[in-house]
Amino acid sequence: MDAVQQAEPRSQTAATQDFEAVIVGAGMSGMYQLIRLRELGMRVRVLEAGTGVGGTWYWNRYPGARFDSESYSYQFSFSDELLREWDWSEHFAGQPETLRYLNHVADKFDLRRDIEFKSRIVSAHWSEATRNWTIATEDGRRYTARFLLTALGPLSAPTMPNIPGVESFQGESCHTAHWPHEPVSFEGKRVAVIGTGATGVQTIQEVAKTAKHLTVFQRTPNWCAPLLNARIGKEEMERIRAGYPEMWQRCLETFSCFLHTPEPRKTFEVSAEEREAFWEKLYASPGFGIWVGNFSDILTNREANAAISDFVARKIRQRVKDPKIAEKLIPKNHGFGTRRVPLETKYYEVYNQDNVTLVDINETPIERITPAGIKTSDAEYEFDMIIYATGFDAITGSFDRIDIQGTDGTKLKDRWKGGPKTFLGVMVDGFPNMLMLMGPHMALGNIPRSIEHNVDWVTDLLRYAQSHNLTRLEAAPEAVREWTDHVLSLGDGLLTFEVNSWMTGVNSNVEGKQVRIINRYAGSAPAYRARCDEVAAKGYEGILQA
Ligand code: NAP
Repeated sequence: MDAVQQAEPRSQTAATQDFEAVIVGAGMSGMYQLIRLRELGMRVRVLEAGTGVGGTWYWNRYPGARFDSESYSYQFSFSDELLREWDWSEHFAGQPETLRYLNHVADKFDLRRDIEFKSRIVSAHWSEATRNWTIATEDGRRYTARFLLTALGPLSAPTMPNIPGVESFQGESCHTAHWPHEPVSFEGKRVAVIGTGATGVQTIQEVAKTAKHLTVFQRTPNWCAPLLNARIGKEEMERIRAGYPEMWQRCLETFSCFLHTPEPRKTFEVSAEEREAFWEKLYASPGFGIWVGNFSDILTNREANAAISDFVARKIRQRVKDPKIAEKLIPKNHGFGTRRVPLETKYYEVYNQDNVTLVDINETPIERITPAGIKTSDAEYEFDMIIYATGFDAITGSFDRIDIQGTDGTKLKDRWKGGPKTFLGVMVDGFPNMLMLMGPHMALGNIPRSIEHNVDWVTDLLRYAQSHNLTRLEAAPEAVREWTDHVLSLGDGLLTFEVNSWMTGVNSNVEGKQVRIINRYAGSAPAYRARCDEVAAKGYEGILQA
């Protein structure tokens, strides 16, 4: 990468640099947005905190990190040439391959010349007088831009646990989202992992292979299901490639843009034998089918949810030899699928290994991290390494970490107290010319599909602004109210919103984030796109234009 041309940062004393658009973040949304804004002939600069492109796939290089969605459905679809030349080696690619892919995209489209790395944004302030944003980096560089495009990512503000003594530990320690770029060995080491979400599960099953001893500190078990990854040979890759047109069409039509789509029948419309056979088939199929391709009522009907939870609990009991450990691994405070389902590869079998111990910290809470390890209410453990798989201040966290001020100095963080308020997840009243990519109130699902739609829609809006000589776009307050009410109403009756998780904005380690909110759009992706199309067709109704 060093040999490749990239945007030159100015010295700290240099004058403010001016652009038509600044994109914050060089993950998948920032990269694609750069490509599209170049087509409009705009002077664009991307500011990225890391030293390379890739966002999530740049930061999360912990052991075992990989796609939980099919590699081919998770790539960019906008370039036929790119689709022709990139082969995936596995159905669920590992992080190194995904990062190689994203670097390949950066090379192919010569993106780095417009990206400044090591540029963490600390503030963005709107000036009504100049109709510009002034953006500052933590090392004091300043930029102005007519349009501010936030490509921050929904899971990019990692949170350390609020356990006393974290700083005192004398061994190696790391949050999974800040994993070193150099290889890390676990051989001969006593390793602790705190956290059992999708990241913890992937990390645990990898570390258990070589660590002298692995101790997992679990607060809430999650309902995990088999990933069933497999390699893709040359011929299979050609078959997959030949099916791309149908695959993209399918992603456009499914509820969350995944290849899997809910089974139209309800859980109790079929006989017990048929239900069991269907679940056995899903459990033996790769990917998210068991979560998003299940009976249509598993996340709305409590009895249906209890039935599928019972099915998966039986699987856990079959796979874990010690019945007491199996019971600890079965969630008791939430049903299957009401939190993001981690996909696993022999995760449960890890607990049958002699070198692995599970500590249920509900029974014996962690009191503190000590210089030598971890002290719970009943024991003191010594470790060579502690891995924090403790998650993120999700969705709004990356916004909260930047001092974003709109008209009259209103702070976005204050505006969003009690939950985000947006128009289509893209704009906020009082924050003119700020356009959010994959911000709150967006459909998540198969994220690259949502990114491509989101970026294309924003690009069309900016093309419209260019052709109509508009220099100020702001969501109308009533449009924000109407969209926010709509997003809230879509959460009604969904069991997912009755559970604490990052998907309901809860993070026990962040002050003020203990109350559940509705922070994402829970409707279907086709319905979301239809609403966006309608707004555009009506001359961007709901957006004040000047
Ligand atoms: P997470 O799901 O929020 O899990 C964090 C874990 O840390 C939870 O088990 C949590 O326990 C625990 N924890 C947090 N603070 C703690 C504390 N103070 N003491 C003890 N335990 C604590 O975060 P994540 O696993 O990083 O995953 C976040 C999301 O990233 C996933 O849901 C997924 O959407 C995405 N992801 C995707 C992939 C993929 O596609 N392959 C892989 C990894 C992650 P509680 O549950 O009790 O709070």
